Amino acid sequence: MAVDATLPYDDQNIFARILRDEIPSRRVYEDDYALAFHDIAPWAPTHILVIPKGKYVSWDDFTARASDAEITGFVRAVGKVARDQGLVEPGYRLLANTGLDSHAEVPHLHVHILAGRPLGPMLV
Ligand code: C5P
Repeated sequence: MAVDATLPYDDQNIFARILRDEIPSRRVYEDDYALAFHDIAPWAPTHILVIPKGKYVSWDDFTARASDAEITGFVRAVGKVARDQGLVEPGYRLLANTGLDSHAEVPHLHVHILAGRPLGPMLV
C-alpha cells in the first residue's frame, strides 16, 4: 500500500526494524549515516536500498529536516555503495519514491540503486 509522505515517523516500519537488526537483511554497507542492503524483491539484477540512519519518512522529510552532515553523509554513502559494487560502468539508476502518487510503500526514506541490465528510458 502506498504511504503518505507527510505522516509522522513510525518507529515500527520495516526499515526501522531492519536498522535495529530486528529483521534480517542482506547488508552490503553501513556507516554513521547510512545502511545499504539488497532489496528483498529485486527489480533488476542489482537492486540495493540505501537508507539513512535518522528517522525520516521520505526524501521530502529528509531534505527539509536533516542536518547538512546527515545529508552529505547519506548522499556520499549512496555513491560509495554504487562504486564499491562496481556499478559506475556501465551505469545505474537512483530512485526515491515520495508520497502517494509515487507508490512509496515503506515510510522510511530509501534510495533504490538499480543496475545490471539496460534499464530503458523509464521505470514506469
Ligand atoms: O519505493 P518503495 O517504498 O515502493 O520500495 C520499497 C522496497 O522495499 C520494495 O522494493 C520492496 O521489495 C523492499 N523491501 C525490502 N525488504 C522488506 C520489505 C520491503 O527490501 N522487508
